Amino acid sequence: MKKHNFSAGPCILPQEVLQKASEAILNFNNDNLSLIEISHRSKPFVEVMEKARSLALELLGLKNKGYKALFLQGGASMEFLMVAYNLLNKKAAYLNTGTWSYKAIKEAKHFGELVEVASSKDNHFSYIPKGYSIPEDADYFHCTSNNTVAGTQMKEFPETNVPLVCDMSSDIFSRQLDFEKFDLIYAGAQKNMGPAGTTLVIIKEEILGKVERHIPSMLNYQVHIDKDSMFNTPAVFPVYVSMLTLQWLKDLGGIPFIEEVNNKKAALLYAEIDRNPLFKGMVTKEDRSIMNATFTLTDESLTEKFDKMWVAAGINGLNGHRSVGGYRASMYNALPLYSVQALVDVMQELEKSHL
Ligand code: PLP
Repeated sequence: MKKHNFSAGPCILPQEVLQKASEAILNFNNDNLSLIEISHRSKPFVEVMEKARSLALELLGLKNKGYKALFLQGGASMEFLMVAYNLLNKKAAYLNTGTWSYKAIKEAKHFGELVEVASSKDNHFSYIPKGYSIPEDADYFHCTSNNTVAGTQMKEFPETNVPLVCDMSSDIFSRQLDFEKFDLIYAGAQKNMGPAGTTLVIIKEEILGKVERHIPSMLNYQVHIDKDSMFNTPAVFPVYVSMLTLQWLKDLGGIPFIEEVNNKKAALLYAEIDRNPLFKGMVTKEDRSIMNATFTLTDESLTEKFDKMWVAAGINGLNGHRSVGGYRASMYNALPLYSVQALVDVMQELEKSHL
């Protein structure tokens, strides 16, 4: 039986997607060639790319609304740079909610004035700042919807006239949002979509073409849009697997369906963290992420025992990020509810054995 995989990535995928992906490696389209051997310009692969782009927009409710979907390379980290290259003329506003927002800020600083509207650094990024204001003359506002490392998640997004840019790497397709509020969304594939190697970028096309600088072709969103996300050889396997996962999600009932499951998983685990005296959550309750739950033991001497117990229960990847410590249970779309129940059972067993 497959392990209960609570790893923060890369990447957690449904079993049926893995099955189909492995078949395509050996024999794609019943043509006795591998998916990774055929030309990316061939009709079957162009269809894969078009389907992946179309499904991404469809699931987010952004079809025929002026948005384009791209599957680029360089990870979400490349978008930290590309966003600024393509959109930052004079001034940009950033919300600092942790490791990933900070990295985005660091890259954008090279392109113009940067206003950090608020930060939760004062308390180890254990909460999402609120009540900040965004300068009206900013070229865009950037935020990170889910802090994968600390386990916080933005539940609300600011009302602003400034274009809204969001790094949704670790919670895209996990919950329903008013996606039309956003002008640019990016996400590394490797949490809820597919293997590392491609990044989904969703752009409202009208926000492009406003910067004065020359943008190198590979970093220019418009170039990728004009070439239908095929300016250079795309990451064929990650794009194919992303397409399969998006189709899986659509067949299940799309984001509204998976959001319900995700809420159930998170509620089950957080209820146990709050009830069991041996565990403590690491972030402000109202800002808890439904994707990445972070917690610690209240008695550190139980660490070795607890670690042995969850490993024996077939659980994988529960250790916290190296910069934070403790535990992190990542509950991406493909993690079943019964896996969360398996973790809760171990937490309860630990409590019983400790009494
Ligand atoms: N942004 C967020 C929210 C992330 O969780 C990660 C990686 O985990 C990144 C950006 C960086 O992504 P990549 O490794 O694809 O550059």
